[in-house]
Amino acid sequence: MRILVTNDDGIFAEGLEQLATALATIADVVVMAPDREQSASSHSLTLNRPLRIKRVREHWYAVDGTPTDCVNLGIQGLLKESPPDLVVSGINYGLNLGGDVTYSGTVSAAFEASLHHLPGVAFSQEISEETSFPASAELARDIVCVLSEGGLPKDLLLNVNFPAAQPKGIEWTRLGKRTYRQTVVEKLDPKGRKYYWIAGSPEWQEESGTDYQALRSGFITMTPLHLDLTDYAGLESSASLRQKLASLDLAFPAASSV
Ligand code: MN
Repeated sequence: MRILVTNDDGIFAEGLEQLATALATIADVVVMAPDREQSASSHSLTLNRPLRIKRVREHWYAVDGTPTDCVNLGIQGLLKESPPDLVVSGINYGLNLGGDVTYSGTVSAAFEASLHHLPGVAFSQEISEETSFPASAELARDIVCVLSEGGLPKDLLLNVNFPAAQPKGIEWTRLGKRTYRQTVVEKLDPKGRKYYWIAGSPEWQEESGTDYQALRSGFITMTPLHLDLTDYAGLESSASLRQKLASLDLAFPAASSV
């Protein structure tokens, strides 16, 4: 098995080092990671400038781009002749729960794998004094081992979060929801000009079955995701809106003669 490993915390992050080291005991590991932190870079792709790959050490490469760039350069570039069987991202410094997966560069690397018809798994870590990246990396390796038994499904797209303390078990979850979004802090810089900082700790809806709830209860959370964002219930329930839209006049305005 060949695994492409990436992250959004950058090539020097401890979570990446531990994850790649643990996975190297069960698979051929190639690391392609951003050369600096790219947290909250989402599914961003660099199209407006060239990208460079710098070899850091054997099987380790730094890219001056986003996690999504790394996955592309890995699959389509460096590993073109011997493509990976799996893309693994992380272990992120901090959780990726609920709607935060849409901000996450870590999870987006797994999204990108999915777009290339490859399985993708994202690992993220709760941070406290009890956090142990080496312990979580071993668990990540064991999870990948079990997932790959009997062959990895091409459409596997999994978001995994580790609690800081020793896990009580593994729970399969759905994405939780925040009760409010980040706050924007307004301050003045030394020159008296306003600046803004997106900050504040989120609060979450207390709902059973969610990744937030399971994580809070001390469990490793596993949330299967997919990239089809279609609201199928919305397709069914849009009858009245459809009728209203059907009465719209779609004809182009007649060209005015000059
Ligand atoms: Mn990060």
